[in-house]
Amino acid sequence: MTAPLLEIRDLHKHYPVRGGIFSRTVGTVRAVAGVDLTVHAGQTLGLVGESGCGKSTLGRTLMRLEEPTSGQVLFEGRDLAQARGDELFKLRREIQMVFQDPYSSLNPRLTVGEIVREPMLVHGMGSKAEQVERVRELLATVGLGADALQRYPSEFSGGQRQRIGVARALSLNPRLVIADEPVSALDVSVQSQVLNLMVQLQRERGLAYVFISHDLSVVEHVSDVVAIMYLGRIVEMGPVRRIFDQPAHPYTRALMQAIPSGNPRQRRASVPLAGEAPSPMAVLPGCAFASRCPYATDACRQAPPALEPVAVDAAAAANGTQPHVVACIRRDEIAALAVAAG
Ligand code: ADP
Repeated sequence: MTAPLLEIRDLHKHYPVRGGIFSRTVGTVRAVAGVDLTVHAGQTLGLVGESGCGKSTLGRTLMRLEEPTSGQVLFEGRDLAQARGDELFKLRREIQMVFQDPYSSLNPRLTVGEIVREPMLVHGMGSKAEQVERVRELLATVGLGADALQRYPSEFSGGQRQRIGVARALSLNPRLVIADEPVSALDVSVQSQVLNLMVQLQRERGLAYVFISHDLSVVEHVSDVVAIMYLGRIVEMGPVRRIFDQPAHPYTRALMQAIPSGNPRQRRASVPLAGEAPSPMAVLPGCAFASRCPYATDACRQAPPALEPVAVDAAAAANGTQPHVVACIRRDEIAALAVAAG
């Protein structure tokens, strides 16, 4: 396997929590609590987890829209987390973002032409004539006519606005697009059109995506590799088919139960997801999922489990293909259960 396009090492983003009349710091929210991830050129990494698990914070921290507390974000070996000034400015061309809400993410006072051209102006890419020509091409690419140029976002539907957001994200020819719940705000009938457009653009342009979603069926549709996040950490990651057919973390198995499916392949032994997730301010000595996990033993509460390959995949880990890794000390027993139930 070639060197990754993006490699995240032990990334943390903590927020202080203030309270009392003097606004003293009374705790820390560990929104991203030590994430390791890799994304390869031309691939889609689907990032899944319940609301509040830290997906958006991770996406924003990758882009340096938020300052990381610690860790590395290596884009082709250059550390975005440490980059300053000109280096950061240049790296930002390579990574663009598509946001969830196509209503608030487009400036209502700019025309569509101005919105799509703006990143090229900021980065001084090409002459004015070249920029205008490129805007036309990009709008055509996302299925909008040249008549959109002089119109305002308010004149478009949600699906059309998200197409404009995609055109803007592509204007600087990025190699990685971070898409944060890009279809969640759209009608179901429009979701698949925007998803298919994103998949088609990926094929044509060799784009890599980090695709953030709470919706497992959307992630299954678009991803090559899937990472499951729980309370600021990745608890399971692997090739999409492996994660959906043989989930080996009890949390992933519980999430899968929630997918309505008539497909018997997806009926697995039931694992109820009981109770609330612990507060992201809590400092837990062991596995963060132990309080809700039907398989938890005393050993699970002693030390946080590392992300390690399931036994059947030790060879994949050794020969460099994408391994199936799970942060659970009982991963092999649970992986075997998944196979038996499938
Ligand atoms: P998700 O995208 O998975 O829904 P978020 O990344 O939005 O999760 O949030 C993760 C955690 O970080 C939540 O507990 C949230 O309340 C907290 N959080 C996010 N942004 C901030 C912030 N600016 N200040 C304090 N806490 C925050």
